[in-house]
Amino acid sequence: MYVARILYPVKVLGPGKRIGIWFNGCNHHCPGCSNPELWTPQERYNTTLETLLKLIGQVCKTQQVDGFTLTGGDPFAQPDALAQLLPELTKISDDILVYTGFEYEEVLHAHPELVEQIGVLIDGKYLQERNTGAILRGSDNQNIIIINGNLADKYHHYLETAQNEIQNFTALDGVISVGIHRPGYENQVDTLLRGKGLENI
Ligand code: SF4
Repeated sequence: MYVARILYPVKVLGPGKRIGIWFNGCNHHCPGCSNPELWTPQERYNTTLETLLKLIGQVCKTQQVDGFTLTGGDPFAQPDALAQLLPELTKISDDILVYTGFEYEEVLHAHPELVEQIGVLIDGKYLQERNTGAILRGSDNQNIIIINGNLADKYHHYLETAQNEIQNFTALDGVISVGIHRPGYENQVDTLLRGKGLENI
């Protein structure tokens, strides 16, 4: 499976302190995508379920994990990887939020066994002209579909109270900016980072 990064604590892509998992690979190629570097699968991101679970287990041992956010890339570009990973994640938390560029009906038709393991699905391509700063959604054509009814109150409360924020993680080779970005953010971030001698990855 191709997974580019795991980050914790992600606080801006769902309620609480989450483990964020960025899949590598996406064929939607939405103009203005904030992660175009993750479109093409790269061998350096080729990993195994065991490696991922080891990393996740290390976090869970010492930290509070309120849920998982799977993004990328498009997790549904790797249904086999999802089929391996989702049952393991549900042992830890039923709050599994998944982003996909496909429509809900498409993934439900193609992979009903995966959809039923997901807590919340955010579907649809990113349309930069419809980036309105909506909570959790890159553009307002996307839908927040609460599949697991047990999460309804938690997510309704989150959607009513959360603010869109950006979270920056420092990595060995630069800074990873996480959250729902508004158009033009990259130039601002690049300028800021260049001033500090860092690189936006
Ligand atoms: S589906 Fe998501 S990751 Fe894929 S191109 Fe569109 S915005 Fe980028």
